[in-house]
Amino acid sequence: MTVADTMPTEVPLARPFPRDVPVPRHVLPARTRMTCVLAVDIGGTKVAAALVDEGGALLRSATRPTPRADVMSALAALVAEVIADGPPPHAVGVGCAGPLDLTTGAVSPVNMPSWRGFPLREELRRLTGLPVVLAGDAQCMALGEHWLGAGQGSTSLLGVVVSTGIGGGLVIGGAPLLGPAGNAGHVGHMSVDPDGERCECGGRGCVERYSSGPNLARWALENGWAPDGERDARALAADAAIGHPVAVAAFERGARALAGMIASTAAAVELDTVVIGGGVSAAGEVLFGPLERALDDVAGLAFVRAVRVRPTTLGVRAGLAGAARLAWRLSGPGAPPPPDPAMAGEGPPPVVGAGPIG
Ligand SMILES: [Zn+2]
Repeated sequence: MTVADTMPTEVPLARPFPRDVPVPRHVLPARTRMTCVLAVDIGGTKVAAALVDEGGALLRSATRPTPRADVMSALAALVAEVIADGPPPHAVGVGCAGPLDLTTGAVSPVNMPSWRGFPLREELRRLTGLPVVLAGDAQCMALGEHWLGAGQGSTSLLGVVVSTGIGGGLVIGGAPLLGPAGNAGHVGHMSVDPDGERCECGGRGCVERYSSGPNLARWALENGWAPDGERDARALAADAAIGHPVAVAAFERGARALAGMIASTAAAVELDTVVIGGGVSAAGEVLFGPLERALDDVAGLAFVRAVRVRPTTLGVRAGLAGAARLAWRLSGPGAPPPPDPAMAGEGPPPVVGAGPIG
């Protein structure tokens, strides 16, 4: 039986020893031997895994493209690569594209057709022999940014991933708000126009229909944008940056939808901070400038107007950081560890229009 087999899920592991009694090292509680957790981030284009210590430092990490079939075998190979020769992890945190069902630990990522109701939590537990905690990939992004990134110190945070789709996650009072089945924070499918366009989800007027990378490019192409080369959101951002009127209008339209969603969410849960990541966030000023102006127009109440919007500082590593934080929350002591800047800012810049949510 391993330490992990006996690990409670909610209570701190360490039992306090009297301060004045010397404790031989071999009888120290299991907690003191724990040095790292295994973080896993699963999306439609890549799977990533890392060993992460209690301060947030990446000890080892690896990334592979997501295969079209047999994702679990690829994941097993990735995990084996990361934990080989490293300190043994004592828990696993995993972020996966949704929807998911935390009551069963199953996932059904929209962009991974081979996984429908896939029992990811149980498969990872079987693979590693460790306790596993699961959340959505954008929920992990939010938690990672709160722990080590642009959301540090926030008491009410929304993390938004603007990419192929739009995902989100809430961190309220330092704790992730996952929802009963794990789908809280699906802000991409909040309706900002009840009379608007039909969304792929079946709803109407969803933010994603206006602001995701493919939808930004689609609207621009329908309205006279005719680039010579690539026709994606990255090319659209480049054209917006040099003042192409349709490209500028596409980002202003997308930013306005995001502003509506942000103001509504701020009114619902009294946000103080919004962190925006994902490939489209790399567009920079052509997104954040119009977003700031739209929020100024859309938001009314003082507490809604007070919300701060910031770009990601962890980039593509935010999901891994959040998955690690989940694992530490599962298995570590109650008090959050101090943030370690070692992980912050090291990720490569996000790529516009590439990859799934997260
Ligand atoms: Zn929708």
